Amino acid sequence: MPKLYLLLGGNLGDRILYLQQARASIAAQVGQITRSSKLYETAAWGKTDQPAFLNQVLEVQTALTPEQVLQSINAIEQELGRVRQEHWGARVIDIDIMFYDDLVLQTQRLTIPHPQLHLRRFTLMPLAEIAPDLVHPVLGKSIKELLEACADVLEVRVFEE
Ligand code: AMP
Repeated sequence: MPKLYLLLGGNLGDRILYLQQARASIAAQVGQITRSSKLYETAAWGKTDQPAFLNQVLEVQTALTPEQVLQSINAIEQELGRVRQEHWGARVIDIDIMFYDDLVLQTQRLTIPHPQLHLRRFTLMPLAEIAPDLVHPVLGKSIKELLEACADVLEVRVFEE
């Protein structure tokens, strides 16, 4: 079964609870979660009056195609977002596809691997925790190597629950 890596993130409301609910929906609708990173906290980029982000990476065994995964994670984002929408007008949870096996795909709706993943410390740190030797199918480097070479200066730290 294809191995999928998802990045979860949120900075509004009860961040830990939304991540928990997202994991439950992913397990029910996308596939079995076979590994999950710790939670990582990153200061919001640019606007410092925004709450900090919590991020987590999941490894999921899925029977869905990449398009079906996208539909499913969009539905989960909407379902979780609906609760607070009138207060915030923003999503409380963002879910992105990082890798789908070693598939390289570029369509109007979907770019896999995620085009920003090697540029962002908040993505590479949790990925390096659960899949340090995974090789990026376009860049030909492991996650560990990408993290060492990453110029992102934003501080990312393990979040103690
Ligand atoms: P955002 O939630 O703002 O990150 O953007 C979500 C949109 O980005 C989705 O509706 C997708 O059509 C598009 N997209 C492109 N590549 C990806 C990817 N690897 N993972 C998730 N969304 C993607």
